[in-house]
Parts: sequence; structure tokens; C-alpha cells
Amino acid sequence: MCESLSNAAKQIQEISKDWPEKRHRCGQVLEALLQLTIDDPEKAKEGFTNIEIHEFVSGKISAWGSSTDDEVTRKVREAWKNLGELWIKKERGVVQRFKSLGLVEIPMIHKVAGGGGGIVNKYSLKLEPAKDGQKQSKTPEALCAGNLEYFEDDVDNLRSITKLFSSGFLLSGWKKWLFFFVILIGMVFFIALLLLFAIGINQQETVGATLKFISSIAIILWAEWLLLGAFFKVVDRRVEIAPWWLQPWTSDGDWLLVFEKNKPAAPNVIKLKRYTAQCSRCGGLVRIHKGGFVYYNRLVGRCDNSPREHVFSFDHYLRVGKELVSRET
Ligand SMILES: [Zn+2]
Repeated sequence: MCESLSNAAKQIQEISKDWPEKRHRCGQVLEALLQLTIDDPEKAKEGFTNIEIHEFVSGKISAWGSSTDDEVTRKVREAWKNLGELWIKKERGVVQRFKSLGLVEIPMIHKVAGGGGGIVNKYSLKLEPAKDGQKQSKTPEALCAGNLEYFEDDVDNLRSITKLFSSGFLLSGWKKWLFFFVILIGMVFFIALLLLFAIGINQQETVGATLKFISSIAIILWAEWLLLGAFFKVVDRRVEIAPWWLQPWTSDGDWLLVFEKNKPAAPNVIKLKRYTAQCSRCGGLVRIHKGGFVYYNRLVGRCDNSPREHVFSFDHYLRVGKELVSRET
């Protein structure tokens, strides 16, 4: 048990090493929890106190100020709350990676509230049996030579607008109507522009004025497409690169809109997600991009180390990819 707990902590360290949130307090508290668990797995079962977490972060990661016990408690409690939100975003990806390694127990972060009277809060990492039995997420045959498995990072709540999407943009009730209202405004605007074009084009007196008129209509249409195009496309195609205004500042433009068709069992959902994989040729990070000219109308996974050669198909539903660039030798 001790061994599996410290192994789990090591796995999470590996999975989380490039998370941008590791620079924030909540990420540092996670790192402290993981390292303390690895260093003392026996004690980790009970959990670590505010003071132990604070000491580790201050001493080994980043200065956190010397404080009274009350302040330490407040600071760690606050950071833990943010870590809870971070964990909700990342949990799917962590669970998928654990399953892909054939691990049957899934990690959870856990807090036992002290409740006063000198009993302090305890923070720990726990392992629980995977909810859907012991099966691995992908059969080995599905991942034969050259194929790879994508993992989901979940939703980012960085900007207020994305909060609408934070637990999925449920297409039911008022949100369904809001969604269709936005689509409707887009369409009305589009039709109005076409009418304006039909009327206006005959009223331009010179060639220059006509060209100017046509180009301004084209720019407005293009801008509208950039703003809303993804929402039109995602319902049909199920997955699309999210529009720029939904991409978090820190991202590389690889966040996706995913339309999950759940009806009639449950309402349909639109989520913001990010998928990554490990390149099967070089071990680099594979991210999702538009297919461009060669893979027109598709999304593909490109490896950061060699984006033109290490290219993979992207099936968001099965979370698998096949190598697309053929190798002659
Ligand atoms: Zn690669």
C-alpha cells in the first residue's frame, strides 16, 4: 500500500511536470504533497498538516513568508481550495493516464478537516479503485506500432466567459436557448450583410469604390466567422479548434470545442478541452492543430519536436491517433 501510494505520487509528478499551474501556489502545494508522500509514505496515509506543507513549499520550492500558525493555516487552506479546482480540471487526464499504465487504483487528493480543539487539518493523497472496473482504457491492439493514445486535460476557468463552459455548456433549458440565440444573431447578421451587399454593390460609382465596398463586406464576414464559426461547425463535426477568444492566454491555441451528443439519455454538452499525447516516434509532446492544406478539413496531432514529420490522426472519441506521414525506409 505504502509503495503504491509513493508510486502514484511519482506518476503524478511526472504527469504534472509541465502544467503551467505548477508555478502557482496551488501547484506548489500539490508538489509539496507529492514529495512529502514519496519521502514518508507511512505518514502520508494519515496526511500532512498545514505547517508541514507550508514548510516544504517555503524551504524547497518558493518563499512563502514567515507567518504565525493562524496565517499558515489560512494560506494553505486557500491554496488547497484552488488546488481542488485545478484537480477537477485535470482529473480526467490523470485517471486516463493511470489506466493507460494498467494501474487499477486511481489517485485523489483528500483533506480531513480538523474541526478545532487543537486538531489540525490533514492533507493527503489517496488511492481508490477505478470506478469502471479494472479494464485498461485502450486495448494493446488499438495501440500497435506507430499509434498513440490522446489524453484529455479538462476545462480552464481562467476567463469569465469560459466559466459558462466550466462544467460543460449544457445544451438544455436557458443555455440551449442562449446558444441558439447566439447562432441566430450570427445568421441574421450574415443575411443582413448579404442584403447590404446586394443593394450596395450597384450604388458604387467607381471601380475603386466597388472594390472598397466588397473588401469591407468580406472583412466583416471573415471577422464574424472568426468569432462564431467554430460554434456552427462543432455541432456537425463534434470537435473543432476553439475560437481565439476562448483560448486561455497561456495556451498555444490548442484548446478545442467538443460537442457531446448525449440525447436522449442526457442533455447535449459543449465542452472546452485540450488533448495531448506522447509522440510514438520521439517521445515529444503531441498537440492538436488544424490539418492545413495537406489534411484539409481534419484536425491532426503534431509533435512539438518535428511538426511536419511526426503527424498523427486525431480521433477525439476513441482518443487514439495513427501515424499519417508514411515512412519509406
Ligand atoms: Zn515526435
